[in-house]
Amino acid sequence: MRRGSGEPLLLRCRWLIPCARCGVLEDVDVLVEDGVVRVVASRGSGLPSGAFSGHVVDCGRRRVGVPCLYNAHTHAAMVLLRGYYDDSELFEWLSRMWFVEKRLTPEVVYHASRIAVVEMLSSATCGFLDMYFMPWETARAAWEAGVRAGLGPVIMGRGVDPWRAVEEASRFVEAVEARYGPLVRGVYNVHSIYAAPLEAVRLAAGEAASRGRPLHIHVSETRREVYEAKKRYGVFPLELLDRLGAVHGWSVLVHGGWLASWEVELAARRGATLVHCPASNMKLATAGHFPLYEARRLGANVAIGTDGAASNNTLDMLREMRLAVLLQRHSYWDTRVAAVDAFEAATVGGARALGLEGGGRLEPGAPGDVAVLGLERPGLWPPRRGRLVSHIVYSAAAGDAWLVAVAGRVVYAPWMREELERLLEESLGVVEGFLEEVGEGVDPEPPCSPPGACLGGSGAGEGVADGGAEGQPG
Ligand SMILES: [Zn+2]
Repeated sequence: MRRGSGEPLLLRCRWLIPCARCGVLEDVDVLVEDGVVRVVASRGSGLPSGAFSGHVVDCGRRRVGVPCLYNAHTHAAMVLLRGYYDDSELFEWLSRMWFVEKRLTPEVVYHASRIAVVEMLSSATCGFLDMYFMPWETARAAWEAGVRAGLGPVIMGRGVDPWRAVEEASRFVEAVEARYGPLVRGVYNVHSIYAAPLEAVRLAAGEAASRGRPLHIHVSETRREVYEAKKRYGVFPLELLDRLGAVHGWSVLVHGGWLASWEVELAARRGATLVHCPASNMKLATAGHFPLYEARRLGANVAIGTDGAASNNTLDMLREMRLAVLLQRHSYWDTRVAAVDAFEAATVGGARALGLEGGGRLEPGAPGDVAVLGLERPGLWPPRRGRLVSHIVYSAAAGDAWLVAVAGRVVYAPWMREELERLLEESLGVVEGFLEEVGEGVDPEPPCSPPGACLGGSGAGEGVADGGAEGQPG
């Protein structure tokens, strides 16, 4: 995948939304240099005088510049299982997934990741937090595309040696950053309290905090998980994490559909991030209620994730923002959560989840991650300046990104489409070939093998809904 050059980028936008609550500026120039936003100024003012030698892009009449979105939880390469046995009974679905996942090759993970990255770019997403098998392959795909990614081996299974697993994760952090940094960074992926040894959670949490890298973990996704934690440990899942030192400023706690009010307060007090994955929670019927309003009110960082394409079925962060608001409205029976809250969570909240300081806003000194959304589609008409944020949240969808630049490098633009399409065709060919070769089958082992991997067993697969399928041993 072609990566843009490192020359300065000057965007000339009719409309610009510098941050979720900044309002809409008109006729603005944005200069990004050395990966960082240098100037945001009215047309013609504030820019260095003299001839500009960089790349000038005119956003056009019907487009709007925005800070990039960040997908705070996904399993990127799972696009290869998009639409795979949708709507089947969960246990069967898991067994079918497992059958395919046990046969994965590095090549297919790489190509599936490549598809995932382009899909995310098409919805204005500059970076993602990933949890899946063979993270080197996804790291390579992200690096080649020029996007940000946080990834690492998944610590999962009761049989793993916590010390060795966390040591391996730390080695991965160093190695992946040496090879693909600075946009690609390592994270500590621990599947969950029910699918990984608690000692591994404790150790990984400590390493994440001391190295300043995210601790990425599923928590309180199902009632079953809460019930089992209470039964075994006498506390709720997030409380248990806290006992293990795993709720801190680098913690990225995913799902949170069944958190008690005091757990939300705890997350806020510790400065942790809570990630809302509305589509996945609804599709997998895990129910619950992500406490978006309370989390924000108490000061926790809130981000939005698509989860994997097997349980969503898209990696479209634009649609995910819409769903986040709609699900909250449905849960609260009122309109206290607004479009701007979702936009803020997907931008600033997501940047913080990735450990990207100052990200999610376009202002001098901030990372040069910017997207230009096209409003040319009738589905986005009539675009009105005063309503652009809610317009984007409620009406935009993947495909509406016209241009995306990460750290000032244009990585997605109309003039790259042809080459992107060629690469996508190649990747699709590999993925389809793999699926055909593997065929369909049912894995004879229970989804939570080795025995006991999933705390409390799985009954009808509960408690491992996302976990069992998606996180399946990374
Ligand atoms: Zn997940």
